[in-house]
Amino acid sequence: MSAPPCDLILRWALLESGAPAELGMSAGRILTRRAVLRVQGRQEIDAGGRLTIPGFVDPHLHLDKALSWGEIGEPVETLSQAIAVSRRLKASWTEEAIEERASRAVAMAVRAGTTALRTHVDVDGVIGLRGFRALRRVRERYQGTVRIQIVAFPQEGLDAEGHVEDMLRRALEEGADAVGGIPARAPDPRRHIDRLFRLATQHDADIDMHVDESDDPADLSLEYLAERTLAEGYEGRVVAGHCTSLAAVPLPVLHRVAAKVAAAGITIVTLPSTNLHLQGRCDPPPVRRGLAPVRALLAEGVNVAYGSDNIRDPFTPFGNARMLEVGLLLAHAAHLGTGRGLRTVLEMATGRAARALGLDGYGLDEGCLADLVVLEAATPEEAIVSAAPPRWVIARGHPVVGAARELASPSLP
Ligand SMILES: [Zn+2]
Repeated sequence: MSAPPCDLILRWALLESGAPAELGMSAGRILTRRAVLRVQGRQEIDAGGRLTIPGFVDPHLHLDKALSWGEIGEPVETLSQAIAVSRRLKASWTEEAIEERASRAVAMAVRAGTTALRTHVDVDGVIGLRGFRALRRVRERYQGTVRIQIVAFPQEGLDAEGHVEDMLRRALEEGADAVGGIPARAPDPRRHIDRLFRLATQHDADIDMHVDESDDPADLSLEYLAERTLAEGYEGRVVAGHCTSLAAVPLPVLHRVAAKVAAAGITIVTLPSTNLHLQGRCDPPPVRRGLAPVRALLAEGVNVAYGSDNIRDPFTPFGNARMLEVGLLLAHAAHLGTGRGLRTVLEMATGRAARALGLDGYGLDEGCLADLVVLEAATPEEAIVSAAPPRWVIARGHPVVGAARELASPSLP
């Protein structure tokens, strides 16, 4: 008995290695992959020798705040100002308003080729669980197109009004995937990390912290986070966002901390768009870049990824939810302009980010979810330097950007 024809075949794709490939997809998965497929699908796409990669993974967004920049009404220049303005705005946000803005931001991300993302959502006495519940609905709406993970994030700290810890617990019980944290702004960063570990282990949830967004080496709590991760046996389940103070520490400290982070299997997510905008403002010349030391971390074997962070909100007027645009920025700012560096940037937006989020079935191998992007580029280097737009985006085997050709009578294999 012969197998049914594929729902969709992608022809003449080029993989990152430069090898040609044709992919047959059915029931949302990659059924078969060969250099040349000798069958027809119900639908076909001719990639025309374009670079084809798994869908982008944006590991750090704030969908609840996205596209609210037009509401701020006053100039924002520092992180503390941004947090204060955001606090004022969110007091009046309804679930419906958050859902509407977040949905538009997800649509922007999908158009740019993102098929999985992780968003933080403020959970505190100001906004309660309104943001979380709105994003839960967005997650449902995009089910089947984008894999969305939600991190319950105590933006205002654990001791702010409204029993924040209880609300985080509630969010985890109602479907949050991970618990967030913000130790650098806590009176006792170690205690903050301890409390969040207790919460995470009780709920078997992953951890994803805004470790610090500071130029001050004294704000470094990443080393303690790595030590706790090892002590708790939480290797591979912790993500550390920003970590900008790590760029301000002496080299021996950087080596020591990076080795512990690598041993703990912590992914560092660098967020160049927001941090280039907000950090380094208090520096006399020379002004620091306010970025985690990406090349040093990679050299120590740390998994490093990057994300969009804020999309036009009180923290930054910038943001288009395009991973390659942020990648181009990162390639400049982190000195990743060699061929190898540019390829690493692409990995940081795909496989490395997928590893951070623990995504299963990710990639272009047979059996993986059929989430992929055909870019207007032939090589990974060209994709980054041109911030290549997608020609086709395929989510679970269906083209969501670009059309496929319908074949009236596909041949059986
Ligand atoms: Zn963030």
